[in-house]
Amino acid sequence: HGSHAPARRIIAVKSGGEAAIPDWQACFAELAPHLEVRWWDDPQVAPEDVDYVIVWQPEPGRLAAYPNLRLILSSAAGTDHITSDPSWPRHLPIVRAVTPEASQRMAEFIVMSTLALMRDLKRAITGQHQRVWDNFEVDRCAWDMRVGILGLGSMGAASARMLRSVGFGVSGWSRSQKAIEGITCHAGREGLDAFLKETDILVCLLPNTPETTGLINADLLAKLPAGAGLINAGRGTHMVLEDVLSALDSGQLSGAVLDVFEEEPLLADNPAWTHPKVIVTPHIGSIASRRARAAFYAEQIRRFEAGEPMDALYDPVAGY
Ligand code: NDP
Repeated sequence: HGSHAPARRIIAVKSGGEAAIPDWQACFAELAPHLEVRWWDDPQVAPEDVDYVIVWQPEPGRLAAYPNLRLILSSAAGTDHITSDPSWPRHLPIVRAVTPEASQRMAEFIVMSTLALMRDLKRAITGQHQRVWDNFEVDRCAWDMRVGILGLGSMGAASARMLRSVGFGVSGWSRSQKAIEGITCHAGREGLDAFLKETDILVCLLPNTPETTGLINADLLAKLPAGAGLINAGRGTHMVLEDVLSALDSGQLSGAVLDVFEEEPLLADNPAWTHPKVIVTPHIGSIASRRARAAFYAEQIRRFEAGEPMDALYDPVAGY
């Protein structure tokens, strides 16, 4: 009886810090025992022994130093934290972490933020800090509001559907034309102005690419109806923060929930921290559980080793 046990493979992990390694090891021991999880900086692991990596922001040059690396697994949905390294091994596939759980968590975050803006939660929290019983009225509900989502991928589409089920009018914008039931879909630069004109709360769930950098600037914000809201859970590079803060000061924007910033952690002197109309959250939009991601990675590695097509691959032509 021949052995069908797959060859032992090493995954070097830089995601969640060294303290997370036992947890990753426990997940893979159950799912795919031939995959041995080792800490990224484990001195016992020689670079030529590494077959796979699970990474968030690998130090520039590190990936290129693994001569036998076969596949890069992003610890997140984005890949910009990998491809920003000029020496990243371009011949290797990158698998993005896309799981139903991650999409669900993002959709929950977007619904929470949309409701917070609509009901002016920041005003209530500010009142609480000052012990002011500010019994204000909000004269609108979800049915009166149109939410527009930049990016209709795994995160954007799930958020669109959940917002719709809460009662919001929902539209979306993507590069290629989409068809999602109950959602008005726009595409391309030519579809952007019409999309913005009918958006009361703008949500950004785009990937970070040269085309999307700086998209949310004064020019774009001026195309929204006066008093619109903004939620950015894409990347900090998508917005010109000074333009966002000016639009809040002028009243063109009425409030913002900002989860991502060009420099993270957000610097102590950044004006976003103290702006009265801004809710700052520390890049918590969606963090998928290790268990769900490990199951996803194990399945993608199984397919890779079997020569089957994988899911959620980075597209080098599109750049995301
Ligand atoms: P996907 O690749 O699945 O979706 C990206 C969407 O953006 C697609 O609909 C795509 O269009 C659209 N898009 C890309 N470029 C353009 C462009 N130039 N013009 C118009 N539309 C464009 O990514 P995900 O949904 O999985 O993730 C999106 C991003 O969300 C990540 O890259 C990351 O930056 C961010 N993110 C943030 C998290 C957080 O915690 N804050 C957590 C997870 C993700 P098309 O459909 O035509 O390809």
